[in-house]
Amino acid sequence: MAATEQTACAACGKPASTRCAGCIEGLDQNGQLSLTYYCNKDCQRAHWPKHKNDCKLANARKVLYRGGEFLMTVWMAFREEAFDLCLGQAHKEGEELHVFEGKWNGPQVLVRYQQHLASDPLDKEALLSHRACTDAVANIHGLILKIFAGIPKFVIVEAMVKMPQGSGKVIFHQASGSIDYGQHRAVMPCDEYCSLTSSSFIKAYEIGSGMRRYEGRYAGVVSPTPGEMVPAVHTEIRKCVEQAVRNWEQRSGQSLA
Ligand SMILES: [Zn+2]
Ligand SMILES: [Zn+2]
Repeated sequence: MAATEQTACAACGKPASTRCAGCIEGLDQNGQLSLTYYCNKDCQRAHWPKHKNDCKLANARKVLYRGGEFLMTVWMAFREEAFDLCLGQAHKEGEELHVFEGKWNGPQVLVRYQQHLASDPLDKEALLSHRACTDAVANIHGLILKIFAGIPKFVIVEAMVKMPQGSGKVIFHQASGSIDYGQHRAVMPCDEYCSLTSSSFIKAYEIGSGMRRYEGRYAGVVSPTPGEMVPAVHTEIRKCVEQAVRNWEQRSGQSLA
C-alpha cells in the first residue's frame, strides 16, 4: 500500500508519522518532495549518520529547483524588455511553432518583444527563448552564481550544476527552460536532459541567411567581423542585467551577494 510505504520509519520500517525536520521541504533527484519519516526520536537518532548526507542534499536540491524556476522567470522578464531577435510572425502547424524573421529597422541591438506574436503563454515562452539557450547562461551568469551560492560546494560547468559530493549525479540547469527541446523546466536530471535533447531533433530545416542578418543588424554598432558580433551583443546584455541587479539591490536595501 502506497500510504504505508510513504510513512514507514526510515530506520525500522514500522508505521511512522513524524518527518525529519531538517529536510521538511527537501526534494529528490526529480524535484519531487523527498519524505523521510521516523516512528520515534530514538530511531531518528540512530539513523542520523546514514541520513545526514541525504538530508543536506535534499535541501540543496530545493535551492537548485526553486532557484532554477526563479532564474527562468527573471530571464523571461528580461527577454520581454530586451529582445534581440526581429521576428515578423509566428504560427502554429500542429505541434510545431514556425517562426519567421521580420525586417529590422535601424541599428538597435535590443527591442521589446512584440506581444502580438503569440497568444498562448507557452508559445510566448518558446519565442522568448528562441535561440537563447546559451545566451541565458552567459547573460545572467552572475545572477546564477548568486542564486546557487546557497548550494554547498556546488560546481557550475557551463549549464551543468554538479551536485555536492555523494549525490552521484549532475543536474542540468538552463535558465531558458530547455524550451528549445519542448520543455518548460529550468532544472532536470542530466540523463533526462540528454535523452530529451537527442530525441527532440525530429526535423532539420535548411539554414537561412543567419550571418547576413547579423551583418545587416549590427553593422555600425559593432565591428562587422561575424565572429565578434555575438560576443559583443552578449557583453552588452550582460552589462544591462548586472546594472539591473545593482539597481534592485540599491532600491531594496538587500543584497544578492
Ligand atoms: Zn522506527
Ligand atoms: Zn532530513
